[in-house]
This record gives sequence, C-alpha cells and structure tokens, in this order.
Amino acid sequence: MADYSKNINERLTNRGPNVGYCAICRTHGPLTKDHVPPKGCGNINDSVISHVYGNNSEKPGRPVLSQGGSHFRTICGRCNNTLLGTEYDPALSDAVRGVEAYFRVASASRLTLPRTQLFDYQPNRFLRSMLGHLLAANAVPDVTEKDRVIPLDDALRAYVLDPSATLPDEVCVYYWFYPHRRRVVMKHSAMGFFGGNGAVIYGHVFKFFPFGFWVVWDEQGDRSKRFNLRRLTDSSSVISASSRLLLDLSQLPPANFPEAPTDNGMWLVTDYRVSQAEDRTRRIPPI
Ligand SMILES: [Zn+2]
Repeated sequence: MADYSKNINERLTNRGPNVGYCAICRTHGPLTKDHVPPKGCGNINDSVISHVYGNNSEKPGRPVLSQGGSHFRTICGRCNNTLLGTEYDPALSDAVRGVEAYFRVASASRLTLPRTQLFDYQPNRFLRSMLGHLLAANAVPDVTEKDRVIPLDDALRAYVLDPSATLPDEVCVYYWFYPHRRRVVMKHSAMGFFGGNGAVIYGHVFKFFPFGFWVVWDEQGDRSKRFNLRRLTDSSSVISASSRLLLDLSQLPPANFPEAPTDNGMWLVTDYRVSQAEDRTRRIPPI
C-alpha cells in the first residue's frame, strides 16, 4: 500500500484501489466509481481528466480517459447508491435541469436576461449532494490511509452523513453562475495575498455547469467579501425543506475564478489535488 500511495502522488489518477476507506463514511471495504458531478447533471460522455495547469515536466501526469463521464473510484456502494444516488442527487440534478431549461427557453425566445433569477430547489439535499461528490473527487490519496485527520473534510463528512445536521459555523459555501462546460475540482487550495501577512482563504473549489462553488473553511477576516459572491445556507434542519436559489446572471466572475486571481492575489494548490475534466472531443491513446 505504501508503494501505491507513493505512486498516486506522482500522477493524476481517478482510480482508487478496489478496496479502501470510503472518502465519505470512511468504512473500509470495496470502492465504487462516483460520477463527479452526478450523471443527472449531464456528466455522461467520455471525458478527459487532466491537470488544471498542464503537465509538470518532472511528473508528467498524462490526461486520464474516463469513460461515460468523469468519475473517481473513491466511495463505497452505500454512499454512492443510497446516500448520494437516492437521497441527495435528485435535488442537485433537478436544480441543474431547472437552470438549463430556463436558458433554453430564454435563448429560444431571445429575451433579455434579467440581472437575477430565482430557481426552486431543496437546499439541504442540494448542498449534501454537491459536498458528497466533492469529497469523492480527487480523493484517491484519502482512501488508502485510515487516519487522515483533515478538519474541513471531517466537518463536511459529518454534515453529509447526518441529514439533520446544520452546516458547521466554520464552513462557508459561496456559489455563482458558471456558464462553462469545463468541470474543475481544486481540493485544499488557498488564495493568498501579497502583503497579506500570511492571511489566506482556504478550502475546496468545485465548478460544473451551471454552478461554481467555493467551500471556504474557517476564514479569518473578510477578504472573500471583495468578490461579492452569494452564500448557500441551509435554512432549516428538515432534509426535504424547499427554497429558491437566487442566481446572478450579470457581472459574472471570470471562467478561471478563483484560480487565477488578480488584484495582488495568489493561488496555492497541491498538484494532484486539482483536476479538470471535459467531454472528449478527439481520440487520445489508451493509458
Ligand atoms: Zn461510504
């Protein structure tokens, strides 16, 4: 197992071992492939998973072909099929389809888009679905070691696994309209600031059409306020609660937000914790 851990740190991979510690419930057992985002969000075509910043000459991580959508073998069958697939994913897929349907109608009727638009959704299931798949993404290093204490991920796991829990105070989930097909996951990344005396905004980034999410952990200060992002909250502890999601349709962040900061910012990542996926448009040689 030590060699396996060493190897996965040297290249990008979406395939965990057949048996390991589930990236969500941490139970040891057979691992299954989790679509990130779920299939109901349109993640069904053969995809190429690659590094966000291109290949590193010292660790030439070749793009990985992922058949039938981008997926990661990192979670157990129960978390995959029951917890996410049955309990939470329909809420995320419904919200994605609601936004898609709105834009289909708007483009067909050539209406001028409003500055904001409301969409029906179930916030508690929506959030848990998104966070569950985020835990599964780029998580191959997490499934080989039993005791990986990572406060942000521990907090997210507890929230995803307990349908009556509320989002911990240390976790802030920002979101924005992301009208792009490139799917991006950046785990344990941080935004720093020149002259910031070491202050960073640390967390996970997850982007897939039509949403961008930035899951920030225990931010000190208010540096994230400058981006004017909206925040997802769970207004009730009832898992089936419904609400309306407000999406800003104008003055969007750039496609490469937040990983290409301007204004005296910097972006810090660990190579194998960041990846992007796109539908395959041309044939690449088998790995
Ligand atoms: Zn599990």
